[in-house]
Amino acid sequence: MKRLKKKFLIGALLLLTSGFLVCIEGCAGEVLAQTASGVAMGTYVNQTIYTRDEALTGEVEELLLHLEEDMLSWRIAGSEIARINEAAGEECSISDELKQDLISLLEVSERSNGAFDCTLGTLIRLWNMDAWSRAEEEGFIPPTKEEITEALIDAGYDKIKITGDTIYLPSGIQLDLGAAGKGIACDRVAAFLAGKQVSGAVISVGGSVVTYGAKPDGSPWRVAVVDPLNPSSRLGILTLSGEWYISTSGGYERFVEADGIRYHHILDPATGYPADSGLAGVTIICHSGLLSDALSTACFVLGVEDGLALAESYGAQALFVTTDGQLYMTSGMEELFSSTSKP
Ligand code: AMP
Ligand code: MG
Repeated sequence: MKRLKKKFLIGALLLLTSGFLVCIEGCAGEVLAQTASGVAMGTYVNQTIYTRDEALTGEVEELLLHLEEDMLSWRIAGSEIARINEAAGEECSISDELKQDLISLLEVSERSNGAFDCTLGTLIRLWNMDAWSRAEEEGFIPPTKEEITEALIDAGYDKIKITGDTIYLPSGIQLDLGAAGKGIACDRVAAFLAGKQVSGAVISVGGSVVTYGAKPDGSPWRVAVVDPLNPSSRLGILTLSGEWYISTSGGYERFVEADGIRYHHILDPATGYPADSGLAGVTIICHSGLLSDALSTACFVLGVEDGLALAESYGAQALFVTTDGQLYMTSGMEELFSSTSKP
């Protein structure tokens, strides 16, 4: 068997911030840039918060850990998603918070003709994505066509029923919110910061970023977009003022190779195989973390033409990079994005 390669690149967006506890002057008193880097929700979290409250970055980390443990992770027994999955075949109670998120996600599924589908849990387990980081040592054998066809029977956003405060998943259906959880996390972080003495913040949770408020010097936020064809370089910079949510999806973020074929982590629910829409990466900017994350995944599956239409229908800005290096973007994105290669 050929030597297998594993690559797991986290952090599609690099924040152009640095330093620890930077003192900014020129305001009433001093505003401190509190910075912290850590791991939560299975990915890297980078925080820069302009505040005098030194405890805030720790509180944001706590919030993310709770969100993962109590609600979003299918892996953690006792989380709401794990509990709903466990109850498949029977009705199960659902919190209002998760219900609202799921309703928004089901709408993305409908409007993307199923390109985004948070009921792919069984198919995703079949692809054994959690083991991809170890596949180099252990070898990776892709699932067979028959196995994929069978797993697709246990998928379908239209099979979920939400009534009042209960949810029903038919037996075999398993939720996986991997394509929206980091964006949802950004929404929760911004809501948390709104109740605190914070003048501005920029926080990344893996490939999702939230910019909040303003920097003390009034300059805009600058968020780098990774070049999906060369992930160690930047494709360009997004210049943003105020509260925005930015998410990137790309085949380069997580993949495994077997016998010379590369399999990445964004699946096309129509085939059960990694999406093959001619895209290397998609970046979405909008006013909701949940939507930016779900739309970036949906657009990656849909490809340029249908993806642009979907993003525009949501009033979101989108940037598409094709596997042959072409860039396509919405007109609003043209104003926010400047390419690194431009003079
Ligand atoms: P993202 O990086 O946000 O595009 O999300 C990719 C993750 O979402 C994968 O690791 C899977 O857990 C899950 N996923 C893969 N394909 C889809 C899809 N078509 N719709 C919804 N979730 C997906
Ligand atoms: Mg996503």
